Amino acid sequence: MTESATLMMAQRCRELRALGKDIIDLSLGEPDQDPPAFALEAARGALAENKWNKYPPVMGYPDLRAAIAHKFKRDNGLNYAPEQVMVSTGAKQAIMNVVIALAGPGDEVLIPAPFWVSYEAQVRFTGATPVLVRSTLEEDYKPPVERIIAAITPRTRLIMFSSPCNPSGSVLSLAELEQLAAAVLKWPNLFVISDEIYEHIIFNGSHRSIGALPGMLERTITVNGLSKAFALTGWRIGYIGAPTAVVQAANKVQGQFTSGANGIAQRVAKACVEADPALIAGLKDVYKRRRDLVLEGLKKIPGWACNVPQGAFYVLPDVRSSFRGSIQNSTGLSLHLLEHANVSLVEGDSFGAQGTVRISYATSDALLATALERVAKAVAELR
Ligand code: PMP
Ligand code: GLU
Repeated sequence: MTESATLMMAQRCRELRALGKDIIDLSLGEPDQDPPAFALEAARGALAENKWNKYPPVMGYPDLRAAIAHKFKRDNGLNYAPEQVMVSTGAKQAIMNVVIALAGPGDEVLIPAPFWVSYEAQVRFTGATPVLVRSTLEEDYKPPVERIIAAITPRTRLIMFSSPCNPSGSVLSLAELEQLAAAVLKWPNLFVISDEIYEHIIFNGSHRSIGALPGMLERTITVNGLSKAFALTGWRIGYIGAPTAVVQAANKVQGQFTSGANGIAQRVAKACVEADPALIAGLKDVYKRRRDLVLEGLKKIPGWACNVPQGAFYVLPDVRSSFRGSIQNSTGLSLHLLEHANVSLVEGDSFGAQGTVRISYATSDALLATALERVAKAVAELR
């Protein structure tokens, strides 16, 4: 397996900080806010109850799964039954379970690019073939749906994407989701993994779930989790709603790999999914302001070009204009910026976007402003 590019940069950053370096970390997609007080209160309450210490059921506590089924209906128009919901150690594991359950040697998995780094590695791990469907900056980093459909073959088992997209911030419109759904429904063995972990961070209009379109619930594995909406990355809870056969297969995988997710964290999850979504509605305003701040800052770097992200908290500038001398790719540039600007970004090649770097703007306005100044200066000094 390849090492996760995001986690590798985050680790480098920790190591450099431990050496006393003042690194601004824009590599990891991790909200800087504190989790909501009610979530931490739920953890304290669960500890005090002293009854969540044993192995939880592999699929998750029944009352949490019912609460998630209710959340899917309330927020997304998705009618998964509680038995079709499964809780995992992060959305990352939730996705891995499904990929293992559904794909293997001889299968193809379509991944519109750019994509979140772990998708490709997870597919390769199963022996299936990842088929990357590329897109360009001019296309807003969304492959036209016709291009995705044209890549479907009788071997295609899965199409997986995140909308809003990590790393481009692109959002699929309802018309695009409908067009894709119509094609998927023509292939009886084809499933969609719809990763909706950024559903609350969307700047124009509201989030739409492909699984809510007619006929699609039986074809869609909807992924979500606590990491982004509730700033609970460290508690490691993600979940899926999925067709019965898929969730049962995912249950077997998880039962052999890790068992049920952490019990106390599941109690926190219940409080989160039951909370009024209005409580986190403000997130999108915070991130929109930061997006605009970053886009303004990037304008000052000659030659760097990016799309205008419509959601999530990343910008993906094309930085090829800065390749010179010994720096001839995104990895070289990001390592140079780490050393000379003390700013940590992730190279975009691993996300299927050659010649780009990914900037996470899930950090304070002040740090973002300083980081952009440092990057602009280091880039201007490149010879
Ligand atoms: N999907 C996407 C698109 C992500 O950006 C991430 C990163 N948080 C995940 C899944 C995994 O999230 P988790 O922390 O729940 O494992
Ligand atoms: N998903 C976040 C990111 O893309 C966290 C790191 C990871 O899990 O890859 O940065």
